[in-house]
Amino acid sequence: MLGQLGEGAKLLAGGQSLIPLLKLRFASPAHLVDLNFITDTSFIKEEGGALRFGAMTRHAEIEHSDLARKISVLHDCAAGIADVQVRNRGTIGGSLAEADPSGDWANALITLDTTVHCLGPNGARKVALKDFILDAYTTVLGHDELVTEVEVEIPPKGSGGAYIAFKRAAPVYPTASTAVQLTMDGEVCKDAAIALGCVGLTAIRASEAEAALRGKSLNDTTITAAAEAARAAADPHPDMRGSADYKRELAAALVKRAIHIALRRARGEQVEGTHLYA
Ligand SMILES: Cc1cc2nc3c(=O)[nH]c(=O)nc-3n(C[C@H](O)[C@H](O)[C@H](O)COP(=O)(O)OP(=O)(O)OC[C@H]3O[C@@H](n4cnc5c(N)ncnc54)[C@H](O)[C@@H]3O)c2cc1C
Repeated sequence: MLGQLGEGAKLLAGGQSLIPLLKLRFASPAHLVDLNFITDTSFIKEEGGALRFGAMTRHAEIEHSDLARKISVLHDCAAGIADVQVRNRGTIGGSLAEADPSGDWANALITLDTTVHCLGPNGARKVALKDFILDAYTTVLGHDELVTEVEVEIPPKGSGGAYIAFKRAAPVYPTASTAVQLTMDGEVCKDAAIALGCVGLTAIRASEAEAALRGKSLNDTTITAAAEAARAAADPHPDMRGSADYKRELAAALVKRAIHIALRRARGEQVEGTHLYA
């Protein structure tokens, strides 16, 4: 249908980004192609060491999935997106396709080995998430291409993660957010992935912050060094949610807090992580 209708057609998934844009007249597509009528596009499966999410899987389905809980970052992220109404409609595929700089999914998933499955008139292709989002609201998708599935490798034993967003209230996007994924070998951090959300045009992988932890034992000194490196990696714009300096401070504080939770989870402790509200 996208091929027949041309560039004036847009896909409709949960409608939680598109419908507000239509109401504000920021978008006025000639046609809507409703994905909600296509069966078997909403699923959560474990296969070959990976979790696979159908593009139409709702945030709420991931929040309540025991399989998704195997990767804490995913559960934390899904459980804190907006409010129940938005989580019941919004989809993981729509969120990645929208590539909103404040959206939660890209920031959480970029700390994991994530592949986006796409389908178009030339067939299917798989794109690593780091190559999928090019800029704010811009992905590699052609106008006649759609996301069919999001595939996430299950991290190795000894891993733990946390996702925290800081928000003024539930139904608003975060002021800043962070995802931390650690793999521990005893007291030593074997691998670390740290991402920052809402402080740049896309989610930022804070590679210097990761380097501050990798190969080291995690203590106040190394964790503070990582948080400081995260502050330097943040590139926020001032807006109604706060000044650039405030957001940098917030990013550093969230990284510190998320590292502590991820570390405890990597050690096998059951720790509830939740988003923070101002
Ligand atoms: C009040 C409110 C608060 C919100 N707060 C947050 C928040 O805190 N954090 C957060 O992350 N999000 C938030 N959202 C957005 C919500 O998570 C959306 O669900 C999500 O961004 C888009 O998913 P959707 O399924 O609703 O997509 P739609 O709105 O249906 O579509 C969004 C865009 O993606 C395209 N698209 C959809 N599905 C596909 C597909 N499978 N393949 C290719 N293109 C596709 C559409 O054509 C459209 O351009 C909020 C929304 C509202 C209304």
